[in-house]
Amino acid sequence: DTLINQIAAGEVVERPASIVKELAENSLDAGATEIAIHLEAGGIERVCVRDDGCGIPASELPLAVARHATSKIDSLKALLSVTTKGFRGEALAAIAAVTHLTIASRPREAPHGMKLDARSGELTPYAMAPGTEVDCRALFDTVPARRKFLKTPQTEAHHAIEAARRLALAHPQVAWQVTHNDKLVWRLAPQSAEARFLALFHTDPAEWRLAHAETPAAQLLGWVIEPRFARESARQALQYLFVNGRAVRDRLLAQAVRQAYHDVLHGHRQPSYVLFLTVAPELVDVNVHPAKSEVRFRDPNAIFRLVNGAIAQALAPTVV
Ligand code: ADP
Ligand code: MG
Repeated sequence: DTLINQIAAGEVVERPASIVKELAENSLDAGATEIAIHLEAGGIERVCVRDDGCGIPASELPLAVARHATSKIDSLKALLSVTTKGFRGEALAAIAAVTHLTIASRPREAPHGMKLDARSGELTPYAMAPGTEVDCRALFDTVPARRKFLKTPQTEAHHAIEAARRLALAHPQVAWQVTHNDKLVWRLAPQSAEARFLALFHTDPAEWRLAHAETPAAQLLGWVIEPRFARESARQALQYLFVNGRAVRDRLLAQAVRQAYHDVLHGHRQPSYVLFLTVAPELVDVNVHPAKSEVRFRDPNAIFRLVNGAIAQALAPTVV
């Protein structure tokens, strides 16, 4: 069973960044308004995520780290219109299979928290504010073959912080804090989407143009870089796409942006953009592959036109 769990874990846990993503998404699902992420040695030695969300009753803690335990789907209908981030019910179990995991939680109405050690099954009282704290130590400690594939702490930290950045960008109403070893990486108060974007990238608003378009089925909102500030190299371009609040890599959307950029500019520069696409849940499948963050649209052509049109319009010289 341990082996099966460790193999299954490979689907979910590739590196510390995957743990950051899964844990913070759970915090968001739990309605957190504050999420604190702490990393040690790039997350290899420790990833700890604390939130002020709804918490988990003590009696349900063991279930939370069991495979295929999810509290988020109770019907087929719910499965077809998933709005929570997690719904597979195996992230915690997978992480627990490859780290030393403890989960402490305190629902708002509970007098104190309880902490579960996933390995020993020991459940003990724990002093904490309402919310949940998941602490994962020594990633791949018991799976040397996997640990070998981890990069340096510095590189792993980069990826883990990037995973947090994507989530913070998509959830500006949530307060976030990221620390690495003894250093504060960033701390962000709840703010508007635009303020969050500018804060996370330390960027000048004058370098960006607002892109906005709407159809009855979809809405696009975001920023595309002022052409003269665009990078020559793809490596430096800042490209973020979110569909219904979830970071995705999507060829169709990327192509819709690139084509608009080329049509308007006839240049070879790389477009930078941060775009939020909102689509009616029944018109998009975000569950093509949980780890790859791909999406499939019911009507790809309509989405292409919406995005392409919005970007072209944003880039067009302003008529005075
Ligand atoms: P999933 O998110 O797919 O349901 P997970 O393995 O990520 O599966 O989590 C299992 C369950 O544990 C969740 O369904 C939820 O009930 C509970 N849980 C996990 N993290 C939190 C959290 N931070 N706050 C409240 N409940 C949580
Ligand atoms: Mg989850």
